[in-house]
Amino acid sequence: MLITNGTVVTLGADNRVIENGAVYIRGDKIADIGATNALTKKYPNEDCLDAQGKLMMPGSVVGHTHFYGAFARGMSVPGSAAKNFPEILDKLWWKIDRALTLEDCKLSALVCLVDAIRNGTTTLIDHHASPNAIDGSLDAVGEAVLESGLRASLCYEVTDRNGAAGAKAGIRENVRFIKRVRNSPLAIRNSLGASFGLHASFTVSDKTLEQCLAAAQGLNTGFHIHVGEDISDEDDSLIKYGMRVVDRLAARGILGAKSIAVHCVNADIGEIELLRQTKTHVAHNPRSNMNNAVGVADILGMFRRGVNVGLGNDGFSNNHFQEMKFAYLLHKATRRDPRVMGADQVLQMAYANNAKIAQIFWKPRVGEISIGAFADLVLLDYVPYTPLTSGNFPWQLIFGIDGAHVTHTMCAGKWLMKDRQLLTLDEDAIAAKAKQAAKKVWKRVQQM
Ligand SMILES: [Zn+2]
Repeated sequence: MLITNGTVVTLGADNRVIENGAVYIRGDKIADIGATNALTKKYPNEDCLDAQGKLMMPGSVVGHTHFYGAFARGMSVPGSAAKNFPEILDKLWWKIDRALTLEDCKLSALVCLVDAIRNGTTTLIDHHASPNAIDGSLDAVGEAVLESGLRASLCYEVTDRNGAAGAKAGIRENVRFIKRVRNSPLAIRNSLGASFGLHASFTVSDKTLEQCLAAAQGLNTGFHIHVGEDISDEDDSLIKYGMRVVDRLAARGILGAKSIAVHCVNADIGEIELLRQTKTHVAHNPRSNMNNAVGVADILGMFRRGVNVGLGNDGFSNNHFQEMKFAYLLHKATRRDPRVMGADQVLQMAYANNAKIAQIFWKPRVGEISIGAFADLVLLDYVPYTPLTSGNFPWQLIFGIDGAHVTHTMCAGKWLMKDRQLLTLDEDAIAAKAKQAAKKVWKRVQQM
């Protein structure tokens, strides 16, 4: 398959902009990149798609999300408005997740995946919770991922909030799913990844952590956990264990090059240093942090120390261009310094750093158009009216590009959307089913 006549923005180490460019795809990977003239001569008998001057760039990578939260959109939360983060969990998230059935888990994943394809997102790292439907929940979400044709890594968040049996069931689900993915054929492993999910330090006791570590032995897996999202997580750790969250997790063996520490809003300089030493990845979620009013993570400090910080959405829309814009604005406003968090740094998080997180799960690269990388591409009908160069592309993106520009989405060499028509998922049918399911979920939440 040859895609011709595009303005190819490769990103990655090459970081080139190729006018009248073409990309040659063999199987699920990118096999050649160059000028349209040259590649059409080199591969004369290939199926061709004329990009008609559109922008061609890598699919977006989401470093942290929650498919299970989809039905929260438009739901009225019972009682008075939550006044802080623990109340947001109590009143909203810890009700909605308890209201989910296995069928709801799949449907909420499907609506998020439709949103992802529409907005050009091709790889997602998910963190799942459904305390009343734990066994098989990752299979239900996984089914949705496979139907969509996108790529996602899944885990179940272990927590003590549903008692010892709930924690054990979460551990079981992680172990079972990790083994299932490991033993799957390559075609499935290229779509599905798995890690060991933990909710957060303040919801997992030392005893539960020990059980998780014992269960994870021999699985060669990392952990995916919320870290210091709110100050209450740090307070809890200081009071109960006499140390800060990252210190505790490092001491217990949870951190490492395969682990993802989400948020780290309240991580102090010592904790940031420990994240660096343990090579733990961080996922920054500016829209969620602003919405929950938990504060602003010291992402600039993490950059300085060389921590790999990727960009997630924590369950906000999978239009990752939006997340990038918020990341760009948030740190400038907070520091009152227009020089900090340049668009180049935002794209570094969203593409190169998220690609490093994705490499925990998949060998071929994502987040760049390069030979050997997964053929995850999007076409956008963005018409630049100023010169577009590899140097200014990050600023073109922040100020000009959005998910609405995406017309075509390809993941692993397969078209999932062409001319804004979804090819793998039936959006109307999914939305109709989800609407019915959401009504029931909302009813169950009102009754809690
Ligand atoms: Zn989260």
